Amino acid sequence: MTRTGVLVVGSITADVTAFGRRLPRPGETVLGDDFTLVLGGKGANQAVAAARAGAPTWMAGCVGQDLFRDLALEGLRAHGVETSEVRTVEGRTGVAHIRVDASGENDIVITPLANASLTTDMVDASIARTRDRTRVMLLQLEVAAEVTRHAARAGSDAGFTVVLDPAPAQPLPDDIWAYVDIVTPNESEASALSGITVDGPEAAERAGRWFLDRGVTHALITLGGAGAVSVTAEAVRHFPAFPVTPVDTTAAGDAFTGALGAALAAGLDTDVAVRRGMAAGALATTRPGASPSLPDLTAVDALLATADPGAGPADAGAVTDLEGAAS
Ligand code: ADP
Repeated sequence: MTRTGVLVVGSITADVTAFGRRLPRPGETVLGDDFTLVLGGKGANQAVAAARAGAPTWMAGCVGQDLFRDLALEGLRAHGVETSEVRTVEGRTGVAHIRVDASGENDIVITPLANASLTTDMVDASIARTRDRTRVMLLQLEVAAEVTRHAARAGSDAGFTVVLDPAPAQPLPDDIWAYVDIVTPNESEASALSGITVDGPEAAERAGRWFLDRGVTHALITLGGAGAVSVTAEAVRHFPAFPVTPVDTTAAGDAFTGALGAALAAGLDTDVAVRRGMAAGALATTRPGASPSLPDLTAVDALLATADPGAGPADAGAVTDLEGAAS
């Protein structure tokens, strides 16, 4: 069988969002203007992003036995994600409770609930059932750190390219890094994990080396509208962002990682995969919301064609070498 698939191990939530003119102060009640209820969770968002980018995609995670179970399963299926590895466990589906004010400022309480029931045995079973068709594993940090560490090691043993988006940033067991092929932190995650304040490409390069020193093969530090810095033992390069007019930057990172994973699973060259991820991240900022803003293959191809008229798929565009070898 051909291994062109993506296995995502991670969180699934119902994103319950209230929009108002301003956020309430502690103890205060305000009247809101709008409300949405959509599939979320970094795991599910990245699975949707990978599937929309064209990869056969399996989501391994847990939902509960409540109304939000169907919302989650139907949301994943509607975007083409395989749900055979989603377990229904006792209790309730995870929830992200989000409030957004008129300026786009937000606060979020994530309650893991069913996500806390994902076990290492479940991960092993999902790897065994999908390994013949999977080339890339996507991991984030919204399920138990021990489960993520186990998944990285087991995924690496199964021959997957293991991609870890270390979000939300938290202390990790040091031995996880050797099993991670590609790490994709944003500025604040790279800062929190490395202790280096990442405020631009130069500092991103230093943070990238921190990950390489711990055993990661390739660090991709995403810098929002300033693009991404790629650090490997061979080269350090800055990929400029695709120019877009952002309306809501939520889920840019999930779009980036999902599309990157899909491109790697399709066997594309790493530079091409990074550019596909960056185009997906840029497009996600042009639409409001998280999972509803994730672009499909056609939109990504269109942006790549406009940004790079006449360029072949292997064209690395205006990438700048920051300096030579990283070690
Ligand atoms: P996160 O959502 O995890 O904070 P980033 O904001 O760094 O992640 O976005 C991931 C990628 O998406 C960036 O590397 C960039 O390529 C693209 N992107 C994000 N914001 C913008 C933007 N304002 N303009 C163009 N591209 C963007």
